[in-house]
Amino acid sequence: MSKKENIQCSFCGRDKGETDVLIAGLDAHICDRCIEQAHQIVLEETSEKGFAKSKKLDFDIKKPKEIKKFLDQYMIGQTATKRAMAVAVYNHYKRLLQDVKDENDVEIEKSNIILVGETGTGKTLIARTIARMLSVPFAIVDATVLTQAGYVGEDVETILTRLLQAADYDVKKAEMGVVFIDEIDKIARKGDNPSITRDVSGEGVQQALLKLLEGTVVNVPPKGGRKHPEQKFVEIDTTDILFIAGGAFSGMDKIISKRLNMQAVGYKALRSGEQVDRENMLQYIIPKDLRDYGLIPEIIGRLPVLSYMNPLDAKTLRAILTEPKNAITKQYQKLFEIDGVALSFTEGALGYIVDRAVEYKLGARGLRSLCESILTDAMFEMPSNSDKELKITKDYASHKLTITTLNKLRAAS
Ligand code: ADP
Repeated sequence: MSKKENIQCSFCGRDKGETDVLIAGLDAHICDRCIEQAHQIVLEETSEKGFAKSKKLDFDIKKPKEIKKFLDQYMIGQTATKRAMAVAVYNHYKRLLQDVKDENDVEIEKSNIILVGETGTGKTLIARTIARMLSVPFAIVDATVLTQAGYVGEDVETILTRLLQAADYDVKKAEMGVVFIDEIDKIARKGDNPSITRDVSGEGVQQALLKLLEGTVVNVPPKGGRKHPEQKFVEIDTTDILFIAGGAFSGMDKIISKRLNMQAVGYKALRSGEQVDRENMLQYIIPKDLRDYGLIPEIIGRLPVLSYMNPLDAKTLRAILTEPKNAITKQYQKLFEIDGVALSFTEGALGYIVDRAVEYKLGARGLRSLCESILTDAMFEMPSNSDKELKITKDYASHKLTITTLNKLRAAS
């Protein structure tokens, strides 16, 4: 027998032929089965030593300044919210790493977030960017479709169905995910409005959300909805899920000014000598305002980090168009580049696009539709012709954006 045929696993003694894989070391060999067993032992040992919790995180937690820097790459302005978010996310993941050994240990509570700001100011973007940074599953749900159990609509558990889907049905991953609940303002209590089919007052949905936000084990229908009564439920623990709620809260400015008015005689100082910025009242928001708007105190308590989005002025819109890592103009340049076409925009064209977005109150969302309208013809024609350059000037842009297209955009926004 040659020496080669005698190779055995140095741990269990199995011959090479009896194993699927036999890995050679310096002076020894190990088979696949022994590797699996050894791996199991390592897992058990480390969890006994209390490493399990920290091992759950397979990403590095960035410090708040680093988180803000990451957000800066994708998002223009909104400094106050970026800072608040960075701290909240940092604390959230610090909390996950915390080993509560006994009852006397201080237990860090969840730092779920609520963002108040007009639509199109980047609430979804910031939540999505945080999830991207952490490489955790991310789901967006619309609070308006949620209803109290027993009413027509979706139960709050379906929020977790979305997250489970985003995590490719990996429960452990989903339990570390980020959920963005959009239009949270739409479930604010709106006084008496009896309806037999839908819990219009919104309070029932708020109640149902409470447990989810705080942390509980929920039976989740993996396919969602009530259309699949035969499906087996999956248990998901929401303790480590970070919830970010967002809403436009239209009319909130009035609630805030009323409060400020009552606080400071003659609608004057916030701090000594500081004038109220009436163009951006949301910056003065406090939790009590959310309550006056119709969110129940328990919900507000479970969304302890409150921040606001600034309205987007022309300067910000101009920056959004070209500066972020995946800015709209950069995306179009990439699309044209694939066809070997160098796309550029003149200052005049960019200014024109921004002016139209401001004029028609299209916000940042409108920038994309405006660019799409301007470039559609070129995207249709150019792949088939030999031109290798396309320069978008103000004239080109205004020519493509006829009055009718603008009206259409305005109607669609
Ligand atoms: P919201 O959730 O507040 O309604 P979104 O996050 O959906 O708004 O933003 C709408 C669009 O505008 C998105 O395409 C987003 O990328 C862009 N946008 C909004 N604000 C910013 C910003 N500050 N920086 C970069 N892009 C932004």
